[in-house]
Amino acid sequence: MATIRQQAYQDVLHRTPKHIEFDGKISEIFGENVFHQEVMREYLPDGAYKMMMASMQSGARLDRNIADQVASAMKDWALTKGATHYTHWFQPLTGTTAEKHDAFFKPVGPGRAIERFDGDLLVQQEPDASSFPNGGIRNTFEARGYTAWDPSSPAFVIGKTLCIPTIFISYTGESLDYKMPLIKALHAVDQAAVDVCQYFDKNVSKVIATLGWEQEYFLIDKALYNARPDIMMTGRALFGQAPAKGQQLEDHYFGSIPERVTAFMRDFETESIRLGIPVTTRHNEVAPNQFECAPIFEECNLANDHNLLLMDLLEKIAIKHDFRVLLHEKPFSGVNGSGKHNNWSLSTNTGVNLLAPGKNPKTNLQFLTFFVNTIKAIHDNADLLRACIASASNDHRLGANEAPPAIISTFIGTYLSSVLDDLEQSVKAGKMSPEEKTELKLNIGKIPQIMLDNTDRNRTSPFAFTGNKFEFRAVGSSANCSKSMIVLNTIMASQLRIFKAQVDARIEKGDSKDEAILKELQQMIKDSKKIRFEGNGYGDEWVQEAEKRGLNNFKDTPRSLDIWDDKRIIGIFEELNVLTHREIEARKEIEFENYVHKLQIEARLIGDLTQNHIIPAVINYQNRLIQNVQGLISVLGKDGAGAAKAQTELITKISEHLNKMKSLCDVMLEARKKANKIESIEEKAVAYCDEVKVYFDDIRYHADKLELLVDDELWPLPKFREMLFTR
Ligand code: ADP
Ligand code: MG
Repeated sequence: MATIRQQAYQDVLHRTPKHIEFDGKISEIFGENVFHQEVMREYLPDGAYKMMMASMQSGARLDRNIADQVASAMKDWALTKGATHYTHWFQPLTGTTAEKHDAFFKPVGPGRAIERFDGDLLVQQEPDASSFPNGGIRNTFEARGYTAWDPSSPAFVIGKTLCIPTIFISYTGESLDYKMPLIKALHAVDQAAVDVCQYFDKNVSKVIATLGWEQEYFLIDKALYNARPDIMMTGRALFGQAPAKGQQLEDHYFGSIPERVTAFMRDFETESIRLGIPVTTRHNEVAPNQFECAPIFEECNLANDHNLLLMDLLEKIAIKHDFRVLLHEKPFSGVNGSGKHNNWSLSTNTGVNLLAPGKNPKTNLQFLTFFVNTIKAIHDNADLLRACIASASNDHRLGANEAPPAIISTFIGTYLSSVLDDLEQSVKAGKMSPEEKTELKLNIGKIPQIMLDNTDRNRTSPFAFTGNKFEFRAVGSSANCSKSMIVLNTIMASQLRIFKAQVDARIEKGDSKDEAILKELQQMIKDSKKIRFEGNGYGDEWVQEAEKRGLNNFKDTPRSLDIWDDKRIIGIFEELNVLTHREIEARKEIEFENYVHKLQIEARLIGDLTQNHIIPAVINYQNRLIQNVQGLISVLGKDGAGAAKAQTELITKISEHLNKMKSLCDVMLEARKKANKIESIEEKAVAYCDEVKVYFDDIRYHADKLELLVDDELWPLPKFREMLFTR
């Protein structure tokens, strides 16, 4: 009888590209499933429309009457799209999105029904949410959680459901999601940046953070996925010999996209476009069967909603094309892992990108101000940036040789390095002469406007300046970008406030405005030097150099998370009203819990797969060898032993690996039992990291050796070459 693996492989061989339904003009369907501004104008009475626009701008609450009108318009529009249900769509701390659908339909008498949706249902709901992670925030007596409408992010229809983006909070008002603190962080950076912009341009009244993410992912065939319990349950292959041909020929990167994959991409892009996600870029990534998708950047909150939606769409549409998408950071050891670069910048209502060099000395001084403030924020809060990208799955990637190191540093390129070095040297203490000031301004004015020079890119830096934005490259492919965006925007807001206070103090003491800014920049350049690194971030020398510089290198999640106890950090988040101490503690606890759960599941699967899949196959094969040896001896007599030399060696080798694998599994089981008894979640996480996880690779080593020894026909788990190369 064929094994599941063999059956799956047969399925794969017979696949053909799926028919693509939409073949029209993309521009005609862009945003057609979104309740966007144009639709609102059409469906809302004038007054309500104006109030709605104002609320979207300012975040102010809509009064009940207007909310009713918006709800009714939303419903009418959604019905034209075939929607039958609505849901509040939120982002609990599980890291994915959540929804609970309710019908518009409401019986109003015998045999009569109407479609109903009013302001109350739009503005707030109470999902039965007691089993979402809350880190101890909700005691049972106040176990209720509320979702509340976020008017700044537009509603949309997926399938037959109207989805309304919402925040998720506890009965006592604490946030239980990623959206609410993100909105608060964006508000904080808006205010702080507007204040600093006043030095340069009084017309600036709003600054938005922009986010352009690049989503990497793997595709494998659905049938092979289903035959790999480890990939199904943990998102990664816990076993598997790397294929003879991996990515060493570098023939996949930007190569032509296989037809079946193109069909899938076109389909999910069409759905994305309909939902207003401006996806524009698609290409093969470095590893076989690894791909990337990127949209044009957007306002940060919207961009993040879009990323979450896209991750969801990827999975849904992949299944239609008989694929499964893997968003895990390291599904296959031996080939590259997946990240999600977060390109980030700040942009004003006057249309200026604050991280793009300007046309003249004044705009360039503004650019340098925001540029140097970012570097200082990274410098002062490097450990926090490390913490916000930490997860059990990203631990496999950070510091591995193809991904940014776990050491946070920033790359700015040779040109800007020299600009900062100059500035550091040439700003004089005390009063500057008019000549000195002119000279400085001239130098600043020389910064070229366009610096998008691809030759000056450093792809090994976790946080690189790329001409008109910073690129946070260490973010994991499965992450909710909010985690990094909450931190980045908050530390930037905090830094800008400090900067403003310092500059104002200098002005008070008699410096001119420009002088004060320049002196402050000079000081910050000096103070943040150690975070700048232009070399190879993948090299061992950097690890040593970073240690000398006093930069931390937290290799695992449990160690990275400790920074959330830091009083200064808690102070920043409380002062800017992004997260309270209690919310921070709750989040930290959830991170630890997540970590432990992920490793627990992996450890169980390692036990299950070795015991129930690998060992039986190995014994089966070994028995064949034994029979063969016995047969040879019975036929050849004394000479049989010599004739069976290779077989006997194989039998011994197999036993060696089998015994080692099995005894390591037993030791791991004991370590797990011990770890499970630990009360404190933080200590438990450390125990899982140091005492349990350490066996994973050793067990795998022997299992993978066995894969090489056992008859291919008998091996139960789809092999890497099948998962990564068949299409
Ligand atoms: P790569 O990093 O793959 O070389 P690019 O540098 O061309 O790609 O762009 C990467 C991403 O940066 C794109 O998704 C783009 O939308 C985004 N991006 C460009 N400008 C900004 C900006 N001002 N703010 C945020 N993201 C931006
Ligand atoms: Mg990039």
